[in-house]
Amino acid sequence: MASTIRLHVAHPLGAGQTVPLDAGQAHYLFGVMRKGVGEIVEVFDGVSGTWLAEVVEARKKVGVLACREQIAPQRDPPDLWLLFAPIKKVRTDFIVEKAAELGAKRIVPVLTDFTNSERVRADRLQAHAVEAAEQCGGNYVPEVTEAAKLDRVLADWDPARRILFCDESAVGEASDFRRLSPGSEAGPWAILIGPEGGFSEAERARLLGLDHAHPVSLGPRILRADTAAVAALTLWQAALGDWV
Ligand code: SAH
Repeated sequence: MASTIRLHVAHPLGAGQTVPLDAGQAHYLFGVMRKGVGEIVEVFDGVSGTWLAEVVEARKKVGVLACREQIAPQRDPPDLWLLFAPIKKVRTDFIVEKAAELGAKRIVPVLTDFTNSERVRADRLQAHAVEAAEQCGGNYVPEVTEAAKLDRVLADWDPARRILFCDESAVGEASDFRRLSPGSEAGPWAILIGPEGGFSEAERARLLGLDHAHPVSLGPRILRADTAAVAALTLWQAALGDWV
């Protein structure tokens, strides 16, 4: 059975609401997927849950849907941010896609001392997060922020949000994840993953000096940054998140 097409729309959803599609969505739905008037798709706007909607207008670059019924309530991920240093384009795309699937609330590219100085296009990364949400059945889309210097991010940090500092120099040490317990560590968190070159000594010293930063090991092997992001998100979700 072909699965229902899912679309994220930048338009509020609700009973009786009509929803205009953008040119790209109209092309995809009618040109590529050959859908037409009367057919049903799933839509979500990121805040109103998942809705079934009927195609009521289908032209080449113009389309209109009409909301019919809500089939799932809004489900937001836990308050977990992923901070990561951008790496090569495809691997950065991978990190954003996996963070959206694994349930990060916000994705923050951070520029560290050893970050490869590739330009980060937040709008392109945001589009990856939308696609990931569409295909994974969720109805929340994490916000991808503009890249910011790690220094600045830490200077402006709210200490109530704890930082899980994935520190490659702790490789091989017992992972602290087993000590994270849902009761005592509830509240907002962020995972921090460094670039291919790792963190500088200055960055490590600064992070280790912060009360709200908790260094952790991700096991006995050095992981690539993209693997480390997936591993840390998984461990956090299993210990404290919505997989529990
Ligand atoms: N070039 C560095 C490794 C960087 S790995 C070195 O050889 O030491 C990229 C990022 O993944 C690291 O900055 C860290 O955040 C994370 N990471 C990889 N393996 C890890 C491990 N075993 N424990 C904790 N963090 C790890």
